[in-house]
Amino acid sequence: MTAPLLSVSEISKRYGAVVALEGVSLNVGAGEFFALLGPSGCGKTTLMRCIAGFETPDSGKLTLKSADLSGVPPHRRPVNMMFQSYALFPHLNVYENVAFGLRRKGEREEAIRARVSELLDMTQLAPFGARRINELSGGQRQRVALARALAPRPALLLLDEPLGALDRKLREETQFQLKEIQRKTRTSFVIVTHDQDEALAIADRIAVMRTGKVEQIAAPIEIYEKPATRFVAGFVGEMNFIEGEIARDDGAAFVTSFARLPRAECALPQGARATLGLRPERIEVSRDGEGVAGRVEDFVFRGEYTLLRVRVAPDVVLRVGAYDGRFAIGDDVKLTIAPDAGVLFAESE
Ligand code: ATP
Repeated sequence: MTAPLLSVSEISKRYGAVVALEGVSLNVGAGEFFALLGPSGCGKTTLMRCIAGFETPDSGKLTLKSADLSGVPPHRRPVNMMFQSYALFPHLNVYENVAFGLRRKGEREEAIRARVSELLDMTQLAPFGARRINELSGGQRQRVALARALAPRPALLLLDEPLGALDRKLREETQFQLKEIQRKTRTSFVIVTHDQDEALAIADRIAVMRTGKVEQIAAPIEIYEKPATRFVAGFVGEMNFIEGEIARDDGAAFVTSFARLPRAECALPQGARATLGLRPERIEVSRDGEGVAGRVEDFVFRGEYTLLRVRVAPDVVLRVGAYDGRFAIGDDVKLTIAPDAGVLFAESE
């Protein structure tokens, strides 16, 4: 990898007794779409504010294009921030909102006109240049905020819950637009979100945070399929956590109260207590045939699949994704779990 655009190294930040960030390190590449994902209060916004320069870390180092950022005020950083509230100027029209940063930089009128019209085109706002902000829909306002933040050509754009105010359908559409605009402008984006689906859909890489620390940094597919910790496994997507014990007598296996599940790759010793994190879609369900016997206790229709809750033992209910067929409460079913499906976590984790 070439030198990262942004390098965050061992950043810590406290507010009195509250530890907002504790030894956070990560790199963001040039042109990368990077997501900070985690539950409320885990430190995402604090980290963003440290990068923007609105907050000073107690310790650690930030560099951008290999230059140390300590002591550099926000307006001197090649970084822009788009706030969740958009913070648009209600007394200015769309054009002037987008032009704002360029005027402040003292750019020539002609250059401003060219850049604003380029951005209005890119964000599909060209017909709205003369509109006032209060005459726009929520989605349009979001796009004005994005165009305004991109206008001065920052090397890095920070977006704090940029789609938080939009309804679900619009959010999905806007995710595509945001990705496209990011690709076209080749700007590095760092997005803050607590929405796991959004992070998976939008980012090249995700940092999953928990109580001021980074738990895992990886591409979405790896976060989903190979979560590094139980927390990541439970936070991103649906997950069954199944308790059991390792047996290494006749080939390694994970032994639960309802099945013996072979594990070719298992580093844990004989007798170790462990938890298997298993996605609902990794369990196959049929009406008959081989497999673990269970009974449907409940289900929710999710459109492309139905999520079943299947009791397989007095103390174990599994969530299972059913992609074919109809099921009813009380149905007897058979479940198959492929060898090595899911991720094993040692008890001590
Ligand atoms: P959310 O998703 O709810 O915005 P977050 O992950 O962005 O949460 P932060 O806003 O970074 O979390 O907050 C991290 C911790 O630091 C929280 O416990 C918060 O209460 C605390 N905190 C943040 N800013 C301040 C402040 N200015 N003064 C005191 N405590 C603060």
